[in-house]
Amino acid sequence: MTTAPPQVAPSPARPVVVVGAGPIGLAAAAHAQSRGLPTVVLEAGDAAGAAVRQWGHVRLFSAWSELVDPVAEEILAPTGWIAPDPQAYPTGADWVEQYLAPLATALAATDEVDVRFGHRVVGLAKRGRDRMVDSGREAAGFTVHVQTPEGRVRLEAAAVVDASGTWGGPSPLGGDGLPAIGEDTHAGRIFYGIPDFTDPATAARYAGKHVAVAGTGASALNTLVGLTTLAESHPATQISWLVRRAATGDAFGGGDNDQLEARGALGKRAQAAVESGPVSVVTSFRTGEVAADPNRTGALVLTSLDGATLVGVDEVVVVTGFRPDLTWLGEVRLDLDPVLSAPTQLAPLIDPNVHSCGTVYPHGAGELAQPETGLYLAGMKSYGRAPSFLALTGFEQTRSVIAAIAGDHESAARVELVLPESGVCGGSGQFDSQPSEESGGGCCSPAEPELITIGGGTSCG
Ligand SMILES: Cc1cc2nc3c(=O)[nH]c(=O)nc-3n(C[C@H](O)[C@H](O)[C@H](O)COP(=O)(O)OP(=O)(O)OC[C@H]3O[C@@H](n4cnc5c(N)ncnc54)[C@H](O)[C@@H]3O)c2cc1C
Repeated sequence: MTTAPPQVAPSPARPVVVVGAGPIGLAAAAHAQSRGLPTVVLEAGDAAGAAVRQWGHVRLFSAWSELVDPVAEEILAPTGWIAPDPQAYPTGADWVEQYLAPLATALAATDEVDVRFGHRVVGLAKRGRDRMVDSGREAAGFTVHVQTPEGRVRLEAAAVVDASGTWGGPSPLGGDGLPAIGEDTHAGRIFYGIPDFTDPATAARYAGKHVAVAGTGASALNTLVGLTTLAESHPATQISWLVRRAATGDAFGGGDNDQLEARGALGKRAQAAVESGPVSVVTSFRTGEVAADPNRTGALVLTSLDGATLVGVDEVVVVTGFRPDLTWLGEVRLDLDPVLSAPTQLAPLIDPNVHSCGTVYPHGAGELAQPETGLYLAGMKSYGRAPSFLALTGFEQTRSVIAAIAGDHESAARVELVLPESGVCGGSGQFDSQPSEESGGGCCSPAEPELITIGGGTSCG
């Protein structure tokens, strides 16, 4: 895919538009600012890191040293920003308060960057052209349709970086990727995400109840650990862990072999909760239906696609991964992988079906570019349904993408990044996986940190 700079040069009238003021959108804006590119950041939420705020109670498995973009740090430094301890592990709320919010303020104070909250992008097109029109397409800039508090407006853009994440698109409970029958009817008993068990109202909702947890990524492990802690003070709490595979296999991650120490420790705590704690594993369970339990008023019965049942369930927590929202990209030409909905050139580097190891491959503008020159997917969204995204990857993505938009081909093509290995094969170590039931559990040898240059790749399968 071409990484040629857009034919319409970024200008105040036609800036670079970044969609989303999350960690990666703000990093993109920082890189654009450092190159003097007029930039508008459009954020649907009312503040920076709106998605991260929603999981603010979760402690990250990355330390601060892996959560601050180097160019963003240069912009923050003169503002009196105090860099957090690089070895400490923040919560999502810390990430927002100590980094994302000050960064958005610092960027907005520059001449180049305009950050607009409460601005949801609802459509993107080539100027005056729907998806069918070839004529003049390459030379045309973009038109961004935005829902603002004052109504719907259109903005002109020279280039667009879609860093809108996937947080808004949680996958359903249904084992075939579609909502289970009755999932909507019983929505009041189903929570999508990691509940904040430190919140008294949330703790009261789950304490002493039979809770079913569906999913096998890090969010599921976090939920199991949180529920286990709750069960220590409320022993009647019953936890059923619904797993699509025939065995939990490597769902606990690489443990001591994980180069992200906190991620390995999370897996070990979850494993202990399963092996000697209150968690019962229900394997080969692909949920097909949610219904009222005829034998206990107020309870639910979950039925698998194979007819197995789990009865007496009070609450369900669904942590089966996330999906990108492609609806507002319907009028631009995209080149996405049919499995992951990630850019086609990126998909083979991150597809858990292809790579047996939880390795994340560094990449840049070349892999992220779309058929419309100047349009890039970045951040969590660029991974589509692949769950292995790390912020470090996104910082490198944005450095390369903004270099490409600025016409700096040498910098855009150079991708060098050391990424931590999960120390496990079979799709674990990925943030929110729902691996296929075929996923094995065999481990790779713990890998040494490796400098990966694009075009090289690595494998441990
Ligand atoms: C619970 C959890 C823990 C994680 N822990 C780690 C970790 O320890 N280490 C690590 O490296 N990674 C971690 N990740 C993965 C990843 O780094 C984060 O998800 C990160 O927030 C991704 O950043 P992003 O900017 O791509 O997306 P997001 O943070 O989701 O930001 C996207 C932004 O776009 C906005 N938006 C969405 N749609 C629109 C629209 N149409 N118009 C305008 N704005 C829009 C959203 O409101 C949001 O603010 C974790 C993820 C989760 C969910």
